[in-house]
Amino acid sequence: MAQKKTPRRLFLSRSGAVLGSFALGIPPTRPRSKVQEENPQKTIRAVIDEIILKMTGAPMMNTVDTVKIGDSEQPVTGIACTCMATCKVIQKTAELGYNFIITHEPTFFSHRDQTDWLAENSVYQYKKALLEEHNIVVWRCHDYIHHMQPDGIETGVLERFAWNEYQMPGKSNIFKLPYTPLTDIVAHIKSAFNIPCLRVVGDPHMTCQTVGIMVGAAGGRTQIAFAEHEQPDVLVCGEINEWETCEYIRDAIIAGQKKALIVMGHVNSEELGMKWMSDWLQTWLPGVPVGFVPASDPFIYI
Ligand SMILES: [Zn+2]
Repeated sequence: MAQKKTPRRLFLSRSGAVLGSFALGIPPTRPRSKVQEENPQKTIRAVIDEIILKMTGAPMMNTVDTVKIGDSEQPVTGIACTCMATCKVIQKTAELGYNFIITHEPTFFSHRDQTDWLAENSVYQYKKALLEEHNIVVWRCHDYIHHMQPDGIETGVLERFAWNEYQMPGKSNIFKLPYTPLTDIVAHIKSAFNIPCLRVVGDPHMTCQTVGIMVGAAGGRTQIAFAEHEQPDVLVCGEINEWETCEYIRDAIIAGQKKALIVMGHVNSEELGMKWMSDWLQTWLPGVPVGFVPASDPFIYI
């Protein structure tokens, strides 16, 4: 059903590209690129529509995957895929001459990117002005990429774990390793993801076999239900609320269960998923420059 409607949406978007730029009186911020010459009417909105067309369960009605800022009716000059549209990522995007950022996580510091409460906030104002200065559009791709079959974020991240041969049948994120000390699993993650320091709950000398990986911030209830239902020896999470999953694992150990928790950090655990998206877009979006711009771990370890 959705696919029948979309060509009309695409057509409307392209018509709007002409109207949009003139009606809004937005001056071009950079000379027309080769891309624009080859795709004079390929607007950012048209690219978004094409991406959504390829997504499982699209179009979604209640989703955070919306345009957060900018005129999406302008011709696309290039796409930066990132986990977080930080100010540094915005600057890098502008340096590349791109005008479209696809971010996995929010831009304006809360899940739905509501900005009313930030109107007078100095950092919000700085970031908004930076985006406007470079005429950059930000679109979030969170719900759609997680609903892909298989989940695009998970695909990109699990590739780096390189545990395919240990993947349990029918379980995309559970691995049955040869018996391995927890310290070796920690060392593997640190090395593979270039993370200098990991937070761990459990006995570092514990010997582990099953590892369950939950990227991002799945939430305490989801992480705890997964730990109980799947019973992995080690739960690897992106982000946790310290008073939820962390304390659950501590209590599980006291209750006699063989358990450990490794916390990678949110960006560390999902960023490679947006690299995967960048690679994926390049396979079917000819003529549009696409790149992965890492946001990187916000923390330093002192
Ligand atoms: Zn995610």
